[in-house]
Amino acid sequence: MTLRDIKEGHSARVRTVGGSGALRQHFLDMGIIPGTLVRVVKYAPMGDPVEICLHGYELTLRLDDADKIEAEPVADDAPQPERPAQPAQEHLGLGEGGRFHPRGSGEALPDGTRLSFALVGNQNSGKTTLFNQLTGAKQHVGNFPGVTVDRKDGAILGRENTSITDLPGIYSMSPYSSEELVSRDFVLNEKPKGIINIVDVTNIERNLYLTMQLLEMDIPVVVALNMMDEMTGNGGSVDVNAMEAMLGVPVVPISAAKNQGVHELVDHAVHVAKYQEKPQRQDFCDENEHGGAVHRCLHAVIHLIEDHAKAAGIPLRFAACKAIEGDRLIIDRLRLDENERETLEHITLQMEKERGLDRSAAVADMRFSFIMKVCGRCVKKPAESREQTRSRRIDSVLTGKYTAIPVFIGVMGLVFYLTFNVIGARLQELLEAGIGALTDLADAALGAAGVNEMLHGLIIDGIFEGVGSVLSFLPIIVTMFFFLSLLEDSGYIARVAFVMDKLLRRLGLSGRSIVPLLIGFGCTVPAVMATRTLPSQRDRKMTILLTPFMSCTAKLPIYAFFVDAFFPRRKALIMIGLYVLGIAVGILAALLYKKTMFKGEAVPFVMELPSYRLPSARNSLQLLWEKSKDFLQRAFSVILIATIVVWFLQSFDFRFNLVEDSRDSILATASGLLAPLFSPLGLGDWRIVTSLLSGFMAKESVVSVLEVLFGAQGGVAAAMSPLSALSLLVFSLLYTPCVAAIASVRRELGRRWALYVVIWQCAVAWAAALLVRLIGSLFGLV
Ligand code: GDP
Ligand code: MG
Repeated sequence: MTLRDIKEGHSARVRTVGGSGALRQHFLDMGIIPGTLVRVVKYAPMGDPVEICLHGYELTLRLDDADKIEAEPVADDAPQPERPAQPAQEHLGLGEGGRFHPRGSGEALPDGTRLSFALVGNQNSGKTTLFNQLTGAKQHVGNFPGVTVDRKDGAILGRENTSITDLPGIYSMSPYSSEELVSRDFVLNEKPKGIINIVDVTNIERNLYLTMQLLEMDIPVVVALNMMDEMTGNGGSVDVNAMEAMLGVPVVPISAAKNQGVHELVDHAVHVAKYQEKPQRQDFCDENEHGGAVHRCLHAVIHLIEDHAKAAGIPLRFAACKAIEGDRLIIDRLRLDENERETLEHITLQMEKERGLDRSAAVADMRFSFIMKVCGRCVKKPAESREQTRSRRIDSVLTGKYTAIPVFIGVMGLVFYLTFNVIGARLQELLEAGIGALTDLADAALGAAGVNEMLHGLIIDGIFEGVGSVLSFLPIIVTMFFFLSLLEDSGYIARVAFVMDKLLRRLGLSGRSIVPLLIGFGCTVPAVMATRTLPSQRDRKMTILLTPFMSCTAKLPIYAFFVDAFFPRRKALIMIGLYVLGIAVGILAALLYKKTMFKGEAVPFVMELPSYRLPSARNSLQLLWEKSKDFLQRAFSVILIATIVVWFLQSFDFRFNLVEDSRDSILATASGLLAPLFSPLGLGDWRIVTSLLSGFMAKESVVSVLEVLFGAQGGVAAAMSPLSALSLLVFSLLYTPCVAAIASVRRELGRRWALYVVIWQCAVAWAAALLVRLIGSLFGLV
């Protein structure tokens, strides 16, 4: 019997874990090991994937993968023995002289050494929240060298000469996705002076699995037990001192969201880093357990590879575990010779035989059985916390059989409605009025001061019109991002992935791709970056190629402009129509890709469903601020320059004489060359061609350039027919994403794919726009 055969609401004990390679390792790392108790929570509304609960957390996997896990049904959870609450205890003070972290092996680092920390933890353990608490708002956002994974660095508030790096959320040090590889390489190669390991205490078994591996890295570690507020609020407790003793590193209970315990955490972190107090214990194998097979194997391998690990600069214990698990990347770096490789294989085979489990499962099992011991001794869990009950209730609607999809459509509809009709639009009107008043003021002032007419023209018709029209879209873009981040932080997007997996699978993708695709409605740049969380290269590529079909917020100004001018009474219909059209064409493209470039199956879909949490106001505001800053920077760099250049090119001819009629300008001549290409679409006017070209710099500037070239809105309306406006809308919806997006595609997939995206999107856009025109004329539109 496999996990697939277990009915909803029933429990089973895992017998064997099948599958192979990275998937299997991932199963094991997520805690699916022989002997684990698993409860089947529910099937997704479309019947696949399935949600299971193990080690107190929820995981989804596809039926095909569940089929690989053999399990035997057990009678419904035997009641857990009730354990008394731990009496409140004074947490032991700082190291020096303290019982559990006496001054470590090393000397104090010389004064003035920069104390660098890595912030490591599972996804949704509160890393971002803690990072924001630790650094205030003063942080530097960039990318990890060579790869496009967000890298945030900052100094710890009030501590001189410290830096902390927020690593991508990971579940283990086995590289399953590229983010895990980034985090592992960061710890291995950059050797931070200390690690702050954030552990979600409401989900402690799985979180400690990563901790076990961090302790092997031979770098000072402090464990931050986050979400203590939820734990204690529901009658749970943790004997922190006992846990410190068992783990051999400082353990500090905190609540990142409520800023409790963060100071103490920093004190401990700085202390262990300053004195280089390595974890006191790295040896978690038990010689009495299962005949000590794993224990003997590990120690034999440690002796075998000791000098190699030292030479390669890899922590010994970590290298030994990885060598046993058969991690190619590490084994290659160890440079074992033929004999040693054979010995390694022999030792491991012997262990497999004695232990009755294969190598990966045996190592994972060794870690989990230590974790169970720690939790058994130190943790009293609340029966079912309010938050869990709440999550279950919410889930019964949001992933319910009949409610899930209507709710999803409703939620997205609400987000769009609030963004475009209520909040965003109100703010936009306000901002527009402000900018208009400012323009008039500047106009009058320049006129009164008798400023040179040309300069006057540049400032008012070029800069104020151009940048101003773009600036007024800031509220809409920011509002959209705000809602998307709320959905993501609350845990809803993960549910959407669960619900939609089966549909996306038809397109050759997995439910995870829904996240980047939804972010694509905000902006293609972060969407492309978000694909980093996808564990397979194939899925990543395909998702990246599909994001440009999701209409980004920067195109909104174009839609709004033309809908206002041409179809004021069908505003909503046309807007929604465009979004739907983008999705539809995207689906067609996906089906095409699946048949051609990306044959084969999507990768397995194994994903945690985090509990629902109220997103913190601080995180959301921080994000709002980052997005606004980003947008403003673009408005005042790329778009400003584009506007000035366009203004210049359309005001002068090739001999640099100011032209009377912009028809004679440099721009008109150059765009005129391209115009025949756009004539079939009804967009042969050089001014329109120019604006589309400038859209490659930034989509917002299509509107600003049109404003500059045509004068006011009336000018455009007079120069185009509604049908050509419609085909322009469709063209802008689908044609090449802006330079920034292309640059991020290039960083992810290389130059060839970036070029491909530009050409392919333009071709699709052209064809679609032509189709619109043809169909339109059939229906008698002009
Ligand atoms: P990350 O994925 O590790 O960066 O996690 P986030 O910082 O985004 O946090 C995930 C969720 O947990 C957010 O909704 C936070 O508001 C919430 N959260 C973070 N820390 C705490 C805490 O100490 N207590 C509670 N109750 N919630 C928290
Ligand atoms: Mg985060």
